[in-house]
Amino acid sequence: AQATRTPLIAGNWKMNLDHLQAIAFVQKLSWSLGDAKHDFSQVEVSVFPPFTDLRSVQTLISADKLELGFGSQDISEHDSGAYTGEVSGAFLSRLDVQYAIVGHSERRQLHGETDAIVGAKSAAAVRHGIVPVICVGETAEDLEEHGPSAVPVAQLREILSHLKASDEIVVAYEPVWAIGSGQAATAEQAEQVAAALRAVIAEVLGDDRAAATRILYGGSVKSDNIARFMREPNVDGALVGGASLAIDEFSRIVQFKK
Ligand code: PGA
Repeated sequence: AQATRTPLIAGNWKMNLDHLQAIAFVQKLSWSLGDAKHDFSQVEVSVFPPFTDLRSVQTLISADKLELGFGSQDISEHDSGAYTGEVSGAFLSRLDVQYAIVGHSERRQLHGETDAIVGAKSAAAVRHGIVPVICVGETAEDLEEHGPSAVPVAQLREILSHLKASDEIVVAYEPVWAIGSGQAATAEQAEQVAAALRAVIAEVLGDDRAAATRILYGGSVKSDNIARFMREPNVDGALVGGASLAIDEFSRIVQFKK
């Protein structure tokens, strides 16, 4: 990570914790980080609960003036209308949602999301003042066939064609083979792909956007491997799944020491 970019540790809860559990969790997490005197201006922390929790999390964070940020796990590419089951960025921004994950590999695999859809969702987020956390990553087969960077680079290039240089974005490199497998990428692998992704941002959106964009690594991040990733110049944080659901473990990840 480079000093010019504030690292971001993002907790992707996936389909875990209902709104009552979310309130208890966010309270305990903020106590834990408060006890540790965590400096949020040095390392930003955000949680990504299910849609049904967002109102409760917003109310708690604003009432207790917590420094914790929060985002949604998805967003509709449309603003309103006949789209049963979709949630508009207009509604999310009314809930002070700061970030929206787009293109997570589980949505790509289970819900057929293409790079064109992920690009449209990214543009929808930006339209409503929400920063998209754009997920890209290769499967084990992609890795064998095309090497480490080709697939994530192609995914990001297509997604970025829907955006402008002035749009704030976060990119998450999540190799599909590393998600929930306990087999994290090596720091060198993460750095190699993150550098290639930064080059694509520079190519499509310009050098300023590339220099400002935080690129996260995701896939089996734990408290005992986070520091390795954070030492790499192009890795600016982590998107954490399983390990974000245990308060002590997530709190240790947030407080990584390089
Ligand atoms: P994991 O998930 O940390 O459980 O591997 C990461 C993710 O899917 O964002």
